[in-house]
Amino acid sequence: MLKTLRIVCAVALFTAFNLFFLGFADCLGALARVQMVPALIALNVAVFALWGVATALFGRLYCACVCPLGVLQDAALWVRRRFVKTSFAARPTRWCLRGASLAACVALFLAGGALLAGLLDPYATYGRFASSALEPVAAWLANLVGGALAANGHECMIRQEMALRGACAFAFAVSVGIAVIACAMWKGRLVCNTVCPVGALLGACAVRPLVQVRIDADACVKCGMCERACRAQCVDVEKGAVDQSRCVRCFECISACRKGAISWTARKARK
Ligand code: SF4
Ligand code: SF4
Ligand code: SF4
Repeated sequence: MLKTLRIVCAVALFTAFNLFFLGFADCLGALARVQMVPALIALNVAVFALWGVATALFGRLYCACVCPLGVLQDAALWVRRRFVKTSFAARPTRWCLRGASLAACVALFLAGGALLAGLLDPYATYGRFASSALEPVAAWLANLVGGALAANGHECMIRQEMALRGACAFAFAVSVGIAVIACAMWKGRLVCNTVCPVGALLGACAVRPLVQVRIDADACVKCGMCERACRAQCVDVEKGAVDQSRCVRCFECISACRKGAISWTARKARK
């Protein structure tokens, strides 16, 4: 149920973001304002505080549904899993890499403002990829439909220009997008838990959230299904622990467990 709800939210928002990047900016402009780095650049403290509090309470829901680069990675992994049986193993947290990425993003922002910080911003990265790779495809499809309608006497669609942007910008945007897709097919949410500065920031907020993905040691038979399903490689069945800072709230582990031994519940009070 949680997994389905999360997928529905993620797909709906991902569709809306793509429409936004394809030119429906007027009616969907509010979507950009809820993103972390654009909020930072606009000094929008309310959005920043909202995500900080939501993450401290419930974990990285932002990475589950709201970030289009995260959903792109999940889509890539979903495609791979259609063809190849894919399982993961627990890995240690890479706080050094995450800290370095966050520091680099802040340094770029201080040195060159939004333009440089945008090089590491996941939202801008997805935006560049979608605009470069999807816009020509959308224009081609629109022209195809328009042509078919015109052939039947309905001249109701304006022909779209299919001009590509600058070659360097196009090559950069598409190659970064392809690298993220390849990485996601290989190791799930590896990008999210190593080089993404927003992931590092949200990970720090989510170290000990109020509501956690937790393993019930009494019910768990250590079959390892949840660990193998985890795209963030943050479930360690041997230790009976989930690294909340890396968990992207996809709820795949809960769906994989046949014993009902892993759930998203309020944390226990310290003894
Ligand atoms: S970690 Fe970064 S790239 Fe991954 S979903 Fe979160 S914000 Fe997006
Ligand atoms: S899938 Fe369930 S029973 Fe198996 S290791 Fe995970 S929590 Fe334990
Ligand atoms: S622990 Fe569960 S909910 Fe969190 S990322 Fe892994 S599979 Fe998804």
